[in-house]
Amino acid sequence: MKTELAQLIQALNQRGWSPATSTNYSFIDEHQQCWVSRSGINKANFTEHDFMTIDQDGIGIGAFHGVKPSDETKIHLWIYENFPEAKVILHSHSKYPVLISQYNEHFFTVQGYELQKGFKGCKSHLDTLNIPIVDNDQDIQILCTGLTARKSDIQHHCFIIAGHGTYAWGENLFEAQRHLETLDYLCECEFLL
Ligand SMILES: [Zn+2]
Repeated sequence: MKTELAQLIQALNQRGWSPATSTNYSFIDEHQQCWVSRSGINKANFTEHDFMTIDQDGIGIGAFHGVKPSDETKIHLWIYENFPEAKVILHSHSKYPVLISQYNEHFFTVQGYELQKGFKGCKSHLDTLNIPIVDNDQDIQILCTGLTARKSDIQHHCFIIAGHGTYAWGENLFEAQRHLETLDYLCECEFLL
């Protein structure tokens, strides 16, 4: 997992989805141990050695005791707690979802695209999908409280944080990537339209 996810992190960086050392990623391994990307690492050079283990409070443990993870680690923990099927979480600062969030409040509503079926459970391009746009906040605790208030709106394994970026997850890396790319594609289409 570490190697594949590190390769994906580099690939996403090449697309411009993680500028200026931003974004973060995590996964849960076969021993139910959570690993997150270390903060401040240039994602262009991210390797399998740039993950760290954390406990359920987001504190570095084992060889990473005393190492500070990203502040946004708490968002990852919120997702794992509220969506237990999640085993891999990807975060993106790509431009189109951010632009979409500047022109839409509360929801990004989309309908009529074949690629909607990239979201697990979506069977038809005719379905109307409502992807929640949640408020950004520099206090991650407040941001997570906002997420809790919107939990029932989160139906497609992803959400947008206004003016900030996207989070998407899956039961495995393949599914998490598909959800992240599906959301990005739909945001790009609708913004360009
Ligand atoms: Zn972010």
